Amino acid sequence: SFKKSLGQNFLVDVNILKNMLHHAGITEDTAAIEIGPGIGALTEQLAIHAHSVTALEIDQRLVPILKKELGSYENVTVLNEDVLKADMERIVHELKNRSKEVRVVANLPYYITTPILMKLLMDRLPFQSITVMIQKEVAERMSASPNTKSYGSLSIAVQYYTEASIPMIVPKSVFVPQPNVDSAVLHLERREKPPVDVKNEDFFFEIVRASFKQRRKTLMNNLGSFFKGSLEKPEIREVLEGIGIDPGRRGESLTMEEFATLANAFTYQK
Ligand code: SAM
Repeated sequence: SFKKSLGQNFLVDVNILKNMLHHAGITEDTAAIEIGPGIGALTEQLAIHAHSVTALEIDQRLVPILKKELGSYENVTVLNEDVLKADMERIVHELKNRSKEVRVVANLPYYITTPILMKLLMDRLPFQSITVMIQKEVAERMSASPNTKSYGSLSIAVQYYTEASIPMIVPKSVFVPQPNVDSAVLHLERREKPPVDVKNEDFFFEIVRASFKQRRKTLMNNLGSFFKGSLEKPEIREVLEGIGIDPGRRGESLTMEEFATLANAFTYQK
């Protein structure tokens, strides 16, 4: 039986899996990490096309099934682990030491997509890319550009660490059981360094979140609430005007570059 609570919707269409590997840039030099192998359909394709596969599966009932199904492939390692608790630092570094490149590929459990991706990104692990099947709407938010409905603090958080794109949109019908939402493949290519210079990263992300707090409010109003008690509105207005950002704009119109300028201008004010 499938466990709905673990996000167990399995992909059964081999063409989609192969296409996904193509977009992931998997070659015979790649050490692949898979999160949530389930019953191993994607794992098998990775075993065939990658140098090795290390798969982390939380559901211990699936582990013997995976080991049996994939027993003929010598390059597969199945670990019974929760990816959110696993020592990814150690796993990635070990793979990196004995292979040319490490790439993450997964059909993720949708209920923890964001925590998984943020854990992998914020730890700045030495992998090349992450290619994941996730809920379409979340993929759109992570890869969104300014002035779109999907653009928000999640777009900035993801694009600060990676270049994001959506190479495939995938219908519900290719999963068993069918999920309620459409899916998409999100490809994240790790950046060597962030695209903007930020003096204090935590503060930068705080400012970004504050600017999107109430989407229909102006930057001036959202920042006013954020700085309440420490900076008065005229002072905030002065800083904004000083860096050439109209206080009447909304957060959704600011580029990452502008958010960096904004955060840097306020870093020593709060
Ligand atoms: N990749 C498989 C496929 O394409 O057929 C199955 C993907 S299914 C959407 C999600 C899988 O992630 C399930 O096998 C589930 O047990 C596993 N999973 C859920 N939470 C997990 C966690 N925290 N760590 C590791 N695996 C997890």
